[in-house]
Amino acid sequence: MSDAMPQHAKADARATAHAPLSPELRAKVRGRCIEVMTLARQLYDLGDLKAVVRFDLKGKTAGWAILERKKALGTIRLNIEACRVALDDMLDDTIPHEIAHLVAEWTRRGHGHDEGWRRIAISLGSTGQRCHTLDLTPARKTRRFRYRATCGTEIALSSVRHNKLRKGKTFKLRDTGGILTASGLIGEAM
Ligand SMILES: [Zn+2]
Repeated sequence: MSDAMPQHAKADARATAHAPLSPELRAKVRGRCIEVMTLARQLYDLGDLKAVVRFDLKGKTAGWAILERKKALGTIRLNIEACRVALDDMLDDTIPHEIAHLVAEWTRRGHGHDEGWRRIAISLGSTGQRCHTLDLTPARKTRRFRYRATCGTEIALSSVRHNKLRKGKTFKLRDTGGILTASGLIGEAM
């Protein structure tokens, strides 16, 4: 997508790319997730690990896996546009790729895109490649706010944290012990 594209055309492209999936397509993608999780349970000791799928990922990333160990909960976030424009890649590669992240972290057999993860990914049917080269529509840029902490460190914060600071909350930087408050706002960052 060219930068010369008018703003409203970009917005239209985003709206189309990120429109909800049809129930049929969702069912197909969910079915594949269940199939790969079933295979993963046969191959690895997953105990009481549960997995859920969310269709809420936007931007250039096809899939994302989050493990909450204490809840024994794995969440696979999938990119709606990737489901639509590259369904085969989603079913054949992205889903086993992301479920392999859950399995690797949960069983502590691998981390990130290391060799342990790669072996699991391949056993679940993925290519085991770390990156997805899909040409997806970028998500709307999220606003970031620059702050300076009492220790002098400059940091860019999401609007969620920015709003908490505005309401009087403070944050402590783990590395330096510096304190972030609303008065540390320098300006908006891109
Ligand atoms: Zn990955």
